[in-house]
Formats: sequence, structure tokens, C-alpha cells
Amino acid sequence: MDVTFWGVRGSIPSPGPGTVRYGGNTACVSVRLPHDELIILDCGTGARNLGISLLAGPFGKGKGSATLLLSHAHWDHIQGFPFFGPFYVPGNNFTVYGGSRGERFLEDVLERQMAAQFFPVQSFHNMGARIEMRPLPEDKDVQVGGATVRAHANPHGPTPALAFRIEAGGKSMAYASDAGYGSGGPPQAAVDLYRGVDLLIHDSTFTPEDRALRLERGLSSLEDAVDCAARAGVKKLALFHYDQDYTDHDVDELVDRGRRRLDGSAVSGIEVIGAAEGLTLSL
Ligand SMILES: [Zn+2]
Repeated sequence: MDVTFWGVRGSIPSPGPGTVRYGGNTACVSVRLPHDELIILDCGTGARNLGISLLAGPFGKGKGSATLLLSHAHWDHIQGFPFFGPFYVPGNNFTVYGGSRGERFLEDVLERQMAAQFFPVQSFHNMGARIEMRPLPEDKDVQVGGATVRAHANPHGPTPALAFRIEAGGKSMAYASDAGYGSGGPPQAAVDLYRGVDLLIHDSTFTPEDRALRLERGLSSLEDAVDCAARAGVKKLALFHYDQDYTDHDVDELVDRGRRRLDGSAVSGIEVIGAAEGLTLSL
């Protein structure tokens, strides 16, 4: 299983000299399964570069297929959707899974961001590829090609955000972007979703001090991420979804603090890294 980061930033793209190492694009991660199947996690602005790389292969010839899992529909998770090149190539096939609040919920939200006032190509039905939208049941194993996928809704301010666990070929990973746990910390159901995975990608938007000032945003601090990794006994933790105002230096400090917190805990053997655009992890 190869996991590649295409966008690691939260809220809004933040390009510039201060963010070149970790990158300024918003949330998008690709998961290449054994037998070459592709799952895409979220469709923030990082999806544009993923699309460009895919067009060099079968997706450029209308022979590609992939599954897209959307955690929720905030801008930083869907703004890459209209700019994802393989959507414009007839013959490509996509299944998009998202939250299950009503049959047409996801379709309506994605259509609205492509309304004429916002974007010149009206309706994703005009993009060329076949794009099917499906609600994803929560807390239930679903077979997606050769992978087993389970979704769990984490609290995220006024609306929930889905976290995903993916297992295939004896390897496992979990993706938990935008998790605003309550005052009791990560609930057991979330920890159970992450249990024992080879890689946990977890929301680490803030330092604990900044999170305390912005609790209503429904996002995690690096301490939430580290505590989840320790309680779930994961092998590797990738910090993810950094605040748009954090520079590379600030993210370096987040990663260092994460390592120190784990070193000071009773748990050992968990590797902590900062997710960065272009980084591929082979599990
Ligand atoms: Zn977000």
C-alpha cells in the first residue's frame, strides 16, 4: 500500500516562501492498493497535482477508475474537485463516497460549488468522466475493490467529518482529518477505528495553546493526534491539516513536540512525522 500526500494544509491554500517544504495545498491523499487500485482521500486543492500525475497513465486515455472518499464538504476538502483533470476525460470511472445525510446530500453540495456564479463548467455531469455518488454507511465494513473500508463520524464543529480506516493486502491505514474531540479527549469509538494501523494520518491543526483559543473550529491539536496514536497502538503517526498561518518552522516545532510527548509517555516505538506534499509512504 503506497500512501502519497498531495495537500496537507487545513482551511485555505497557503502558498508562499514560508510553506515550501510542507506545502500549501489543502487536503488530498492518494492510496495505491495492491493490484494498482486507487483510493483518493479528500479533494482539496492538492487534487489538482494528483490529477496531473494520473493523466500520464490510464486516466489520460479514459481507462482509469478510482474511488474518492470525502470526509466532509468544507472548502479545503472539495475545492480541488472542479480542477481534477481525470474528471474531464470521457471513459474514466469514479465512485465518490461521502456522509450519508440524505441520498442527494453530497451531490447537491458538489453541484452548488460548480454553480455558474462560481465556476464556468456547470454540473459535474458535464465533466466527461462517469462520476457516481454514494453515501457511505458509518461504523460498518464496506468492500471497495480489494480493500475493506470503515468510516466513523468524528465531531467537527457544527457538522461531523468522517474518518476512514482502509485495510488491504495485510496492511492498514487510517485517515482522520478535522477531528474536534470533546473535553474528554478522543472517544473510544475513534480510537477503535485507528487501532493498530500501520499508518495513522491525523488532524494536527494547532498547538494545544492555539486550539484552546479556537475550540469552536472543531479541530485537533498535535496532542490529540499523539494521544490517539498512543492509545490505538499505531506504528506510524503522520501529523496533517496544519493551520494555514503556520510556517514550515512552526510545523517542524509541532513534529518535535509530538515526538517529545511520545518519548515522555509509557508507549514506545511509534514513529512521528509531519505529512508533506509529495511524500510517499510505502506500508
Ligand atoms: Zn479541513
